[in-house]
Parts: sequence; C-alpha cells; structure tokens
Amino acid sequence: MSTQHYDIAVIGAGVIGAAIAAELSRHDVRVVWFEAAHDVAEGASKANSAIACTGFDMPAGSLESQLILESNPDWENLCRALDVPFRRIGALSLAFDDDDAHSLLQLAAQAADVGVDTEFLSGAALRREAKTAAPTAVQALHVPAEGIIDPIRLTIGLAKLAVSNGVDLRRCAPVTGFWHHDSGEISHVVTPGGAVSVGAVVNAAGVNADQITDAADAEPFTMWPRKGQFLLLDRAVGHLVPKIMCTAPTPHTRGIYAVPTTNRTVLVGPTAVDGLDRADKTTDADTLDSVWARAQRLLPDISRRYVTKAFSGLRPASDTTYRLEVSPKVSNLVHANGIRSTGVSSAPAVARYVADLINRNIIELTPKADAKTAVAALPRLAETTTDDAVIGFVARPCATPDEHPMVVCACEHVTAAEIAAECRGPVPATSLDGIRKRTRAMAGRCQGAYCSVGVSFILSASTGEQPGQIRQGEPESQWQADTK
Ligand SMILES: Cc1cc2nc3c(=O)[nH]c(=O)nc-3n(C[C@H](O)[C@H](O)[C@H](O)COP(=O)(O)OP(=O)(O)OC[C@H]3O[C@@H](n4cnc5c(N)ncnc54)[C@H](O)[C@@H]3O)c2cc1C
Repeated sequence: MSTQHYDIAVIGAGVIGAAIAAELSRHDVRVVWFEAAHDVAEGASKANSAIACTGFDMPAGSLESQLILESNPDWENLCRALDVPFRRIGALSLAFDDDDAHSLLQLAAQAADVGVDTEFLSGAALRREAKTAAPTAVQALHVPAEGIIDPIRLTIGLAKLAVSNGVDLRRCAPVTGFWHHDSGEISHVVTPGGAVSVGAVVNAAGVNADQITDAADAEPFTMWPRKGQFLLLDRAVGHLVPKIMCTAPTPHTRGIYAVPTTNRTVLVGPTAVDGLDRADKTTDADTLDSVWARAQRLLPDISRRYVTKAFSGLRPASDTTYRLEVSPKVSNLVHANGIRSTGVSSAPAVARYVADLINRNIIELTPKADAKTAVAALPRLAETTTDDAVIGFVARPCATPDEHPMVVCACEHVTAAEIAAECRGPVPATSLDGIRKRTRAMAGRCQGAYCSVGVSFILSASTGEQPGQIRQGEPESQWQADTK
C-alpha cells in the first residue's frame, strides 16, 4: 500500500479525464490519475469524427449544449497552447429534395435557438464553396463556426499539461476496487499496483464508468458501446473536401459525414449501432459498403480506391447523457461520464464544471500561482511544409547530427527528430501506436509497412528494449520481428 496521500484521483485518460486532470493541475491539490491502458487516448477519444462542433443541432438549454457552446469560442487559443491542430473550416448540410430542405429549415431554427450563426446556400453557391459537392444537391445549410481538431493530440496535449503541473499519471493501472471509511466515503483507490489514499475520486472511465460506480458501492447505472464505423481516405483527396459535409438528418438517422481532417485525409462515416461487447472494435464489409454508398451521395466523384483504412470507435452510451454530478450515495465520488457523442467538443467546459462541483462540494480548490498554461510545441515537418517542399527536404543534408532531419515516415512526412522528441517529455510514447498517435508516423497510406522498423529503432533507444520487442500497443500486442 502506498503511504502517499492524494487529494483527488481521476480515473480514465480519455479526453474528459485529461481535461479534468489539466484543469485540476492549475490548482493547489495533489492529483493522481489512473489509466487502464498503456497510454492516454486509447478509448473513444482516439476514434471519432474529430469535429469540434458548435452544438448547432442540440436542443437549447441542455447541459450538453451549454458546455459545447462554452468550449467553442476558445479553441484557437487552447489549441495553440497545447500544440494541437485545429481549423475552423465550417460545415455544410446538404439537401437533395423537399424533405431534406424542410429538415434544414428545422436545423436552422434550432441553431438560432442556441445562438449559432447559419446561412442557406443555393445549389450553385454550394458548389462554389465545395466544387466536388454532389451536383444533385439543391441547397445547403452552412455553419461557418464548425471546426476540425486532432482529438488524439488534444488528449495528449491536455495530459502533457497536467503532468507538467505535477499530476501523477499512472498508465497500465486499471482501477479494480475501492476501500471505504465507515461513513461510506472512499478512502483508497485500488489497482493491481496497490492501494492509494485519496480524498476524492472522479469517475471519467468512459464506457466502463458503470463498473467504477459498482465497485465504489455508489448508485448503479448502465453503460454500453455504440459503435461507429469509418473509412479513411488518403490525403491525395483531402483538398477535394474543403468543409465538413453531411447529408440532412432524417427522422431515422443523423446523416453521414465526410470530414476533412487536420492532417489532410478525409473521414467518411460514422454509423451508430448499440452493442454489448466493450472490446469489439471490428468493422464489417456490409456496413462499410453502406457507409460508402451514403457518402457517394455527398461526393459522387471521389473514388473508393483512395480508402487507406477502415476502423471503428465505441461511443460511451448510457441511460443518462452528460452525467456530471457528485454521487448521491458516495459523497466524495464525482461522475464525469455518459458523454457519448460530443465529448471532444465540450471537454474544456466539462472540466471546469467538474472542478466547480469538487470546489463547492468536496475540496476547496485554490489556483496555483505558478501553474503552466501551455506545453512545448514541437517543430513538425508536415505542418510547416507543402508536399513538394518535403521532397526537397528529404534530399537536404543534415545541418547538424543532432538535428536528425531525415524523414522516417515518408507518407506523413515525419522526421526522426519528431519521433525522438515524443519518446521523451512529460507523457512519452512507449509503443508504436503511441508514436503513431503523437506524430502520425505509420498512419499514412503504407500504414507503417515501410517505417515501423525505423520507428522501433528510435523507440528502443528510449525504452531500453530491443527493436524487435517494441510493442504495437497494449502489452499483449507485441510486434514480432523475426529475430532468428
Ligand atoms: C464514432 C464516434 C464519433 C464521434 N464523433 C465526435 C465528434 O466529431 N466530436 C465530438 O466532440 N465527439 C465525438 N465523439 C464522442 C467523443 O469521442 C466522446 O464523447 C469522448 O471521446 C468521450 O471521452 P471519455 O474520456 O469520456 O471516454 P474515453 O475516451 O473512452 O476514455 C475513457 C478512459 O477510461 C479508461 N478506463 C476505463 N476503465 C478504467 C479503469 N477501471 N481504470 C482506469 N481507467 C479506465 C479507458 O481505458 C479510457 O482510456 C464520437 C465518438 C465516436 C465513437
């Protein structure tokens, strides 16, 4: 048992846990942060549509809408401070017939209710904004303030800030139980590494939040995974999708999206199907065919041969969305879960809301005078050069041996220096997936076929393992090099 006492324990290192840890780290409290996986951003926060939405299609007055609206204006500042790519490119909902046009009228009225600006575009005006948009679309609703963001880098940036400010992040540390005081309050958080004494606990365990509430002997609720399948298109077609595009919602579906990402690829999807298996991230051909067929309505001229990858994400669905409250049964447990579909867009305001709950009900939070508000920004080749310039860059001789300007990942233009930098720092990568999430090396059209060996050698220098022992991701997923 650890003898050290922490004021607050945060459980779960998705975007919600990371935002809460970063917010708490600005205050004069000792925080320990437990994550079951080997890295931060391993749950829903790494596999989503990557939209920093305005909440224009949310019911006015809901907590969800309120927290999205509060987060939205500050993305430019926050992303600059956390070294996170963000662009406010706007979204277009397309109408193909009278029913769709009616649905867009309702959407525009809903947006007006929550105070988000929209404008109607004729079919011709739509195609001036997005040349490749379907010629059969008769109208579109434009929401200029919608943005695209890298949700993985957001989670990692928040984690780096939290750790830089003294939060004790423990990875590979699944919370398995709690000890209680006679009063019923939690006294210790239990993991396979031992029990840790704490004053309060934040349950941000995503789809497993119900297991945490059960283990804490708090009020029961149910969580389940709502799967969304995606296709990822190569960056060669990124310029053909200048804005987020979607079909108008119908009474049965929210429509399908084509989302240009901050790294110039395009996401197509997602589906939304409730399931039971919290580990099932498989994709299937029938669903992906239907995703593609629906996306073709939006962008009929883009060929499916540009698909580089299919993947799925699991939304943490629950009987209550945005469960942000002090447990009615265990008075030092705070729930921050059930954030199913918009957690990336609301995370900064969710974190402030949760800190306020803690401050008013459990522990007084005093701001720390010397708290950091930004993390070091790494020079990233792909973000500072065009594709043509990269070819020149590869050929350029090294300025100094320490600079390591050679490109290791040719698809995504990632240098050895960037990879080495992400093996160090406050939240270092410890696996190939960790490097992929931080730098995009191995995330391009070859999916690591050419560069994973080079990445393994650089990682091995920091982990002390042999290159052939470097893990793909979780401990059981070792990447097996043939060393015989
Ligand atoms: C298909 C899809 C599309 C989406 N599109 C968008 C979008 O465009 N915009 C947007 O804003 N949102 C979007 N979302 C929603 C968004 O991704 C989620 O709301 C958000 O990621 C939830 O974050 P979280 O931290 O609650 O959960 P997670 O990211 O799942 O994190 C929970 C963490 O808790 C850890 N954990 C679980 N149990 C334990 C335990 N016992 N001990 C320790 N740690 C534990 C897990 O390992 C995990 O890392 C989408 C989601 C999906 C799946």
